[in-house]
Amino acid sequence: MAAAHAHAELGCERVLIIDWDVHHGNGTQDIFWASPNVMFFDTHCAAPFYPGSGNKEEIGEGLGEGLTINVPLPAGCGDPALVKVYREILTPAVEWFKPDLTLVSAGVDMHRQDLCMNLSYSGFGALTGIVQELADKHCGGRLVMVLKGGYHLEALARGVRTVLEVLAGGEPPEIEEPGISEVTSLADFHRDAFR
Ligand SMILES: [Zn+2]
Repeated sequence: MAAAHAHAELGCERVLIIDWDVHHGNGTQDIFWASPNVMFFDTHCAAPFYPGSGNKEEIGEGLGEGLTINVPLPAGCGDPALVKVYREILTPAVEWFKPDLTLVSAGVDMHRQDLCMNLSYSGFGALTGIVQELADKHCGGRLVMVLKGGYHLEALARGVRTVLEVLAGGEPPEIEEPGISEVTSLADFHRDAFR
């Protein structure tokens, strides 16, 4: 609703929605499936994990074809894989789309104490740093994060705090690049699509 309002009422021509909640954002995907004004980028645990949608062939259609980007990931992939995806798939897509507003469906259920993705607090900080840098470069710093999932209360609290620390100017943590072939080949697939 925020993305639709920003486009209809606030003069935003191109809105980027990033969804890093561990579940695929099937509702957001449906709403903007054929929209040329909204890019939807979603990292999530791959099927058969709930809700089972969000395979990489789901790219939108009509005027929105190519503006839905799904990156399903194996359970337990952790910080290096997520950071690689945000650097090598999200970043070139955003460079191409040039959004004027970035919204984030910022679930904390990727945390290793919560569901299945094995993200650390540093991982959340690193992703926040990447997203903030992109928003600074393309959106004049216009970045809105909305809390979604998060079921382990301590991880939820500390995860949100970590994100806020980076947004408030803290240095994002360094995460080493991975050597996970499955993620690398997926990154190549998506990067080629934006050449
Ligand atoms: Zn979730």
